[in-house]
Order: sequence, then structure tokens, then C-alpha cells
Amino acid sequence: MSDTRIPLGALPPEGITLHLDDQTLWTGPLAEFGMDCRITSPLVADVQVMPLEDGYLVRGTLSGDATVPCNRCAEPMTVHLEEKFEDFEEAPSGDAEADGESRIVEEKGALYLDVAAIAWEQFVLALPPNPLCRPDCKGLCPECGANLNEGMCACARDEGDPRLAVLRGLKLNRQ
Ligand SMILES: [Zn+2]
Ligand SMILES: [Zn+2]
Repeated sequence: MSDTRIPLGALPPEGITLHLDDQTLWTGPLAEFGMDCRITSPLVADVQVMPLEDGYLVRGTLSGDATVPCNRCAEPMTVHLEEKFEDFEEAPSGDAEADGESRIVEEKGALYLDVAAIAWEQFVLALPPNPLCRPDCKGLCPECGANLNEGMCACARDEGDPRLAVLRGLKLNRQ
């Protein structure tokens, strides 16, 4: 992985812009966390870092395609990511507890911004929290696991189970 820590001491007043397209920035953590998500068209992040009075303005864009399983039927679906982000990173106060969430790391008295962590975080935030292959995805049959988008299965869901009858009643009442 390329070095994605920016030395903040050397930052010019107008800031700098980084172009990140090393896929291991994302494929590395995806594998590490065992996430069921694949990158299907390369991710690109452009990150601008600008010094302000008591911290740094970090803003940029992230785009690309990722494939995630539908939350209901588990079929893979592609989501197009096109995100803009803007964050303020406070300069560390020296209080380790307060600085715990900071993306600014200190090493041998010098401050660095961990751009890799920012690129990863923005990717996770860009993923839909409840991905659905289509708004009315019917999901899987709880009995046999058949994908109900492909048609009804042979399970007799309309008979026998009083709990489902109650649910049907609720649905009818709502209309
Ligand atoms: Zn689905
Ligand atoms: Zn079934």
C-alpha cells in the first residue's frame, strides 16, 4: 500500500489535494473485516487537506461501484458510489482519550493525517445501510429459502400458521 499519511507540518497554506486510486486502500480493510462486499469498478477518492486555525479541513469526493448482497434476498447487487464529504479534523490536544477518534496521528513530535483511514471511512459511510435489489424485493421464503422474486415456492404459507394469519389481518386493516 502506498504511504497515505500526510505530514501536516509541511502543508502549504492553500493545502494540498491527493488523488487516491490504490484499490488496496479499500480491498485491504474489506478482507480484514470479512465484509461481504466487492469493488466492481475501481474506487477513486480525491481528498483536499487545508490548514485552518485550530485544525484541518478535509474534504473530497469518492466514486466507484461496489457489489453488496441485497438485505432481503441476498442476491448480489451493484451500488454506484458518488459521494462528497467534508470534515474538520481538530488539531490534537495531547489528551489521548479526547484524541482517540482523531485521524491525526503524532509520531516523533510530527503530526500526520491518516488519509487511508479517511478513504475507508467514507467508503463505509457511502454504502447503503439497507441495500435492496429493488424497493419491493420479496426476499426469501423463511421455510425453504427460495427467492420469492422468482415466483412463489411450494410452501403452504397461506394455511395452518395462525401467526401469519394475524399478520395478514394487520396488513388488511392498514389499507
Ligand atoms: Zn432482493
Ligand atoms: Zn418456501
